[in-house]
Amino acid sequence: VDAGNDAGLPPGEELPDGQAPGVRRQDDGTIKVGLTMDTLQEERWIKDQEMFGEAVKALGAEFIVMTADSDDAKQIEQAETLIGMGVDILVVVPHDAEAAATIVNKAHAAGIKVLSYDRLVRNADVDLYVSFDNERVGELQAEAITKRVPAGKYVYIGGPETDYNAHLVKKGVFNVLQPYIDRGEITIVFDQWTRDWQPANARDNMRIALEANEGRIDAVIAGNDGTAGGAIEALAEWGLAGQVPVAGQDAELAAAQRIVAGTQTMTVYKPIRQLAEVAAELAVKMAKGETPRADRLVNNGKLDVPSVLLTPIAVNADNIDETIIADGFHAREEVYKHI
Ligand code: BGC
Repeated sequence: VDAGNDAGLPPGEELPDGQAPGVRRQDDGTIKVGLTMDTLQEERWIKDQEMFGEAVKALGAEFIVMTADSDDAKQIEQAETLIGMGVDILVVVPHDAEAAATIVNKAHAAGIKVLSYDRLVRNADVDLYVSFDNERVGELQAEAITKRVPAGKYVYIGGPETDYNAHLVKKGVFNVLQPYIDRGEITIVFDQWTRDWQPANARDNMRIALEANEGRIDAVIAGNDGTAGGAIEALAEWGLAGQVPVAGQDAELAAAQRIVAGTQTMTVYKPIRQLAEVAAELAVKMAKGETPRADRLVNNGKLDVPSVLLTPIAVNADNIDETIIADGFHAREEVYKHI
């Protein structure tokens, strides 16, 4: 069992004779919430883990978390472990949207409901999906960039094809860009997925885009702040950092610093505490056999999944103080550290 969780017994407590660790079912009525995460690569997931865990515990439930390090087989194995530990609800941040269907099926076979957290599991009977409105994330990015650059050569550096959020965000981006493209004002000169959201892969793709266009790029929209950072590294190699508008998402500290420094134009802030608290409340309800509230349906290829989608917020140099700093998402002195 990966560390960093409450799976262990309280100090001094011993397992009853003959019981292996990790297979004990609570019979004292305490709800156990299991969370299987893809990765802790991006800053946000550390917050998700902490805030979701805190919220679960504040509701009187026990919290167990495991992280799969972008490995599908490992994530399935960890989900099996959580199921074996007798979790009452399984919360999943899938690495691969399709591969994680196995997790949902295994949980259901054990009578455990599944909440898809932030990322939607595809083609499985997911019980509830709690996330931000990812399509809106893409719209906010493209709205901000088209305002700055209403015509010219655009580069799209997406997330990975294996994360359904990457598809939803991209859909939102093109909802906004398509009329400009149709009028011949904007041309997409490069459009690539980024393997596992790796900034280095995004940087390499951005280098290819710059070389192919001899540096004549007018705007970049990136899947998240990590990939935006990779793209900005490549722009810097061409002396173009700060010259070419770049959009990201997550309001990572590094991105907030780039926004005040002028090398990144905007990010999309998703208040993680809201997501963590809503997901925890609904997870515990489901674990108790109650039907959680949902405000819309999102199709996952198999069914319309009851969903709760929170509202993302566009952040640029003008509103950074009243959004992420006012919210305490980052400290003011950290954001303006290099200024
Ligand atoms: C999340 C983003 C995150 C990305 C990489 C996406 O599914 O919505 O917030 O940056 O995964 O972890």
